[in-house]
Amino acid sequence: MNHTAKAAASTNVILPGGTIGVLGGGQLGRMLALAGRHMGYRFVVLDPTPDSPCGQVADEQIVAAYDDAEAARRLAAKADVITYEFENVDAGVAAMLMAESYVPQGSELLHTTQHRLREKRAIEAAGVRVAPYEEIRSAEELRAAVARFGTPCVLKTATGGYDGKGQWVIRSEAEIDEAYATLSKARTELVLEQFIRFEREISVIAARSPRGEVKTFPVAENIHVDNILHLSIVPARTTEAVCREAEKLAEKIAASLGVVGLIAVEMFLTADGELFVNELAPRPHNSGHYTMEACATSQFEQHVRAVCNLPLGAAALLSPVVMVNVLGEHVQPLLDWLGAQTAEPDGLAVKVHLYGKHEAKEKRKMGHVNVLTSDIDGALAWIEQTGIWAKEIGHWNK
Ligand code: AMP
Repeated sequence: MNHTAKAAASTNVILPGGTIGVLGGGQLGRMLALAGRHMGYRFVVLDPTPDSPCGQVADEQIVAAYDDAEAARRLAAKADVITYEFENVDAGVAAMLMAESYVPQGSELLHTTQHRLREKRAIEAAGVRVAPYEEIRSAEELRAAVARFGTPCVLKTATGGYDGKGQWVIRSEAEIDEAYATLSKARTELVLEQFIRFEREISVIAARSPRGEVKTFPVAENIHVDNILHLSIVPARTTEAVCREAEKLAEKIAASLGVVGLIAVEMFLTADGELFVNELAPRPHNSGHYTMEACATSQFEQHVRAVCNLPLGAAALLSPVVMVNVLGEHVQPLLDWLGAQTAEPDGLAVKVHLYGKHEAKEKRKMGHVNVLTSDIDGALAWIEQTGIWAKEIGHWNK
């Protein structure tokens, strides 16, 4: 145990052999533990579901609710450093952990990214643009803001939204009352955003260590289907100048917010090369799964290095790659394909990752496949030709 270290956060180094405590036992925690175990770290995870994806590969799982402060205290007692794999960490648990253990990521970044309005203000304070927005407190305010922004525009809840939940694209004034009545049920502030007619969605994951070292991963181009990430394509199909600018914005945000660990920055890119930040996530991100085989250091190893205060790893791209998500409905077709495969497809390295979830519900993230290639179009054609992602076909041909 090394709890005295909390006083010296900027100099505290957790060496391999130490124990990393993870709040949350989903796939992000699992891949974090797999990366950290290679280096010799031990893992203890807290998650309410027994045999969770992370619990299966950790040294120990504490089975308890995320807001169970007593269980979090047990986690803290076993760990030299605590990290989390989701951003909706209970405020009481976060405060307790901050007081009683070493949480290099702090709780302020969580507080910021748990709330869209706070997050947007923090991004603006870093000198980075977001889509024009307004806080909405009543149906009248919404009506006035829709008149200013024009339609379409997007109404979002300030907290609790993910994968497109908690938002409503308002396409005509006739929808205003219903949109307000529906989203205001969430009992959180609402925010109206101007609709950005983006050409592409891209993301950059930046890592920052307690010493202030910052490294960014190559820009990913992300294609969503039904608001869920379907593909990441790296390098992104845009110019070098846009990529450098996107990386610079992510670095600025990481430094300005005093990030420790990872911050994923999702952005809209318009046809004339303008970038608007949409969202932040202070953790490993689905759009960074491509790094597992395609970069010199994966996002998961980088996060371990950052929270343990080791030097950050080289983030260079070793091979172009397409990451494709495996949702519940894709699992059986993928397994059928894998079982029938007699040889690796020509010119591709196909890396299958499955998260060990027990139930393959539709739309649930069950795994992903990284397709390494020297020919992105060839990889996209292969993904289409397997038939595994039949429903999503055609979304990337832009
Ligand atoms: P979010 O939950 O904020 O990540 O939004 C989910 C998806 O909705 C994004 O990935 C975009 O495709 C779309 N979207 C969200 N906000 C906007 C916006 N202001 N303009 C255009 N599209 C948006």
